[in-house]
Amino acid sequence: MRLVDEVKIKLCAGKGGDGIVSWLRLKFMPKGGPAGGDGGKGGDVYIEAVKDIEVLRKYAGVKFLKAKDGKPGQKRSKKGEDGEDLTIYVPVGAHVRFSGKELDFTEAGQRVKVLHGGKGGLGNVHFKSSRNTTPTKATKGKEGQCAEFIIELHTIADVGLIGKPNAGKSSLLNVLSNSKAKVGNFPFTTVEPNLAVFDSLVLADIPGLIEGASSGKGLGIKFLKHIKRTKALLHLVSSEEEDPCAAYKMIRKELGAYDKSLLEKKELVILSKVDLLSGKEVNEKIAKLEECTKTKVLPLSLNDPKLVDKLKRKIKKLFN
Ligand code: GDP
Ligand code: MG
Repeated sequence: MRLVDEVKIKLCAGKGGDGIVSWLRLKFMPKGGPAGGDGGKGGDVYIEAVKDIEVLRKYAGVKFLKAKDGKPGQKRSKKGEDGEDLTIYVPVGAHVRFSGKELDFTEAGQRVKVLHGGKGGLGNVHFKSSRNTTPTKATKGKEGQCAEFIIELHTIADVGLIGKPNAGKSSLLNVLSNSKAKVGNFPFTTVEPNLAVFDSLVLADIPGLIEGASSGKGLGIKFLKHIKRTKALLHLVSSEEEDPCAAYKMIRKELGAYDKSLLEKKELVILSKVDLLSGKEVNEKIAKLEECTKTKVLPLSLNDPKLVDKLKRKIKKLFN
C-alpha cells in the first residue's frame, strides 16, 4: 500500500453554546430572577505528533473535521458543557501549513493548539440591573475558528539511499524491508521516495539524482528535501560505472549544491552489484573508490547473503 504523505483537510473548532433565558422558579416566587446559564465553550483543535508513519492514512479522503460544539446554558444559572476538543494525529516529520502559518512536528508527543473554540454566549443572568430585574436578553455562542490545512510528511527517514539512477537503491530497499518498491533496469524507476522500515530505522530511497538535480533537473530536487533530516546516507555506486569515483563525486556535488549540511552527514559508501565483476575487478574498483572517498567502501551484491548481512550490521552500527 502506498504511504499517504500529504493530506488536505478543512478543520474547524467547535462553536460556543448559546446563553439562555430562564427564570428561577421557587415555590412561593414564580419569577425569582434571571437564571439562564452561559453556553459552554466550543472544542479546540490540536495537532499532535506520533511515531507512526502510517497515521495520515486515516485522514485520506476526509474533507472536513470539526471539534464538538459547546452545549447551551442551563437553568439555575448553570453553564453548558464545553465541547470536546479535536486532535489530529500526524507523523513525526510532518510539516503543517494553515492560514499563512507553518509548523514542523519533530518529536513524538509534540502537541499544538491550532484553532480556538468559540466562546459560549451569556445567559440572561448577566443582564440583570437595578433598572431591569427581568432581562430577556442572552447572547449566542461564537463560531469556532476554521482553516484549510495542508499536512505533508517531509520525512521521518533515518537513512537516505542515494546514488545515480540504476545503482540498485530500490532493489536494496526491497531486500532490507518487505516493501514493494518498483525495480526496473532503466533510470527513473522510482517516481516517489519509497520508505521502508529496517530494524526500526526508516529508510528512504531518493530517486532521480542526476547531474543538475540540485538546480531542478529531472526529479532530484523534489526528493532532496527528504534527506535533509536523515542521520546517515547510504551512497551506492554501481560496479557498472567505468569511473566509480566520478559517479560518486557527481552525486556529492549535487548534494552540496542543494544543501551543504547534507555533506556532513555520516555516509556509508557501497560498491553495488559486485557479482557483475571478477574478484580482481572488484578489488580494483574498491581501491579506486576508497582513494577518492577517503573512507572504507563496502562491496555489495544482493545475490550474496553474506554481503547483505554485513551491510545490515554496518547500518545498525551507524546508530550506535
Ligand atoms: P535504482 O534506480 O538505484 O533504484 O536501481 P534499481 O534498484 O531499480 O536497480 C537497477 C537494476 O539493477 C535492476 O535491474 C536490478 O535488478 C539490478 N540490480 C540491483 N542490485 C543488483 C545486484 O546486487 N546485482 C545485480 N547483478 N543486479 C542488481
Ligand atoms: Mg529506484
